[in-house]
Amino acid sequence: MGMAGSTVSGQCLCGAVKFTVDVPKRDVDVCHCSMCRRWSAGPYIGLPYDGVLALEGADNVGVYNSSEWAERGFCKVCGSSLYYHLLGSDHYSLSAGALDDQSGLQLTAQIFIDEKPAYYDFANDTPKLTGEEVFAAHASSPETE
Ligand SMILES: [Zn+2]
Ligand SMILES: [Zn+2]
Repeated sequence: MGMAGSTVSGQCLCGAVKFTVDVPKRDVDVCHCSMCRRWSAGPYIGLPYDGVLALEGADNVGVYNSSEWAERGFCKVCGSSLYYHLLGSDHYSLSAGALDDQSGLQLTAQIFIDEKPAYYDFANDTPKLTGEEVFAAHASSPETE
């Protein structure tokens, strides 16, 4: 809010859910944790946003509580991953794969690197954080931020 950002649009695979959202930047991060890999059929690449989605087809959005600390939104028709939300925080991220225009995105971090399986590696030169480092970073950032 108040920052110079941009508006992005996206949709699920079948088109039953469409969204537009303001994002502060076009920086994405990738999570290699086992839950994200099960959910996304690969590492989850997310674009942070402020939690406010303008939705078309909101009735088709299902919300799954994947752990005590997070929920994930998905299309109830085609199963596409849509967003991740760290409960009790303003940390939301959109599935980068759902965006209509994926130009100009920049991969800025890789998290849960300690859970990444050995069969793939990203060539992008980014900071890599373990799960423990990610939780420590969230615990030390003020929730009112
Ligand atoms: Zn769908
Ligand atoms: Zn994850």
